[in-house]
Amino acid sequence: MPQAADSWKDYRQRRRLLLWAVLAGLAACAGGVLLARARHSVGPFYAGLAALAGAAAWGAQPLADFPCPHCGETFAHRGRTRNLFTRSCLHCRQPLPGRRRG
Ligand SMILES: [Zn+2]
Repeated sequence: MPQAADSWKDYRQRRRLLLWAVLAGLAACAGGVLLARARHSVGPFYAGLAALAGAAAWGAQPLADFPCPHCGETFAHRGRTRNLFTRSCLHCRQPLPGRRRG
C-alpha cells in the first residue's frame, strides 16, 4: 500500500495535469479566435472551443478518479456528485493535507 505522502503527491500531479490541460485548451481556444478573425469564419472558434471542452474533460477524469488514502473511495467523486475543488474527501471527510487554519 502506498504511503499517504506518495498518495498526496499523486493527487497534486493529477491536479497539475488538469491545470495544464485547461491552459492548453485555453490556448487552443485563443488560437481559434485569432484564426476565426483572420478567416472571417466562426468554424475555427468552435473548433477551439471544442478543444477546450475536450481538454478540460480529459484532464478532469484522473483527478475525479483519485482514491482517498484514508478510505480508498474516490476523493472528489461520490455517486452523481463530482467536486474537483473539494478540500475534503466526499466519503470520509478526510481533509487535504497542507495549510492549517486557526
Ligand atoms: Zn475518504
